[in-house]
Amino acid sequence: MLKTFLNYFANLHNYEITSYSIIIGAAILFVILERIFPYNEGQKIIREGFFNDLALYSIAQNYILGIIIFSGIISYIDNTTGISRLKLFANVPIWIQLIFFTVTHDIYIYWMHRWQHSNKYLWRIHEAHHSPKKVDWLSGSRSHAFEILINQTVEFLPIVLLGSPREVIAYKGVISAVWGMYIHSNINVKSGKLQLIINGPEMHRWHHTTGKGRNRNFATKLAIWDWLFNSAYLPEGKAEVYGLKTFFPSNFIQQFLFAFRSYKKNPSPSPFKHSMEKNSLTR
Ligand SMILES: [Zn+2]
Ligand SMILES: [Zn+2]
Repeated sequence: MLKTFLNYFANLHNYEITSYSIIIGAAILFVILERIFPYNEGQKIIREGFFNDLALYSIAQNYILGIIIFSGIISYIDNTTGISRLKLFANVPIWIQLIFFTVTHDIYIYWMHRWQHSNKYLWRIHEAHHSPKKVDWLSGSRSHAFEILINQTVEFLPIVLLGSPREVIAYKGVISAVWGMYIHSNINVKSGKLQLIINGPEMHRWHHTTGKGRNRNFATKLAIWDWLFNSAYLPEGKAEVYGLKTFFPSNFIQQFLFAFRSYKKNPSPSPFKHSMEKNSLTR
């Protein structure tokens, strides 16, 4: 596994090196800006779940899912349909393709995200994303593998099928990664009227609170969808308390398995428990 991982980095194309450099550069920039202009003061860089989020979610899970999504699912669909051979988008300028795929996927992700908050089955693969108690540039990477599997397949399948150059896949990945880090970052951004269009920490941090904002602000990249579809929430003051009100495990594997727990709220009471309750009543 390690050899395959190292080989992957040894055989990177220039546009892939550029993409990784931008993502790493942006991460460093966000860490620095979080120190200089913190939204919530006193938040530490090394916080609860930091290594889980960096090594297991951001690097290991993304790497493995990348193989499953591109070499497995997308490759299978493309081989059986042969649509990419038509090269429908091959001559469209890369920057137009990036705008087109960013906006169309963003509409999808808005509605999908909104649905995840109202459907108990879809919530199961989304709650991991809401579990960090401190929200920062890295915490957005904590997403259940099934959530990423669905959303990234929807994100990249059209790009491959329309025959776009590989650069479009790489740069679209960069846009998603950098924007994802930005909206979660602990930076005190005050973008004014721009927050009506461009989504940022001002609104997305409210989405990660335990309060009213949690079922608002579903947008990822463009805040337009929240303002347009009546789900925007931007009160005075600052978001303070983040995470879930319910129990959530701290270990990566347990977090993955937790999505498949039973829905039964009250599993049949044990005779022991029953007799205890009885005793307390008669006491
Ligand atoms: Zn959410
Ligand atoms: Zn988020």
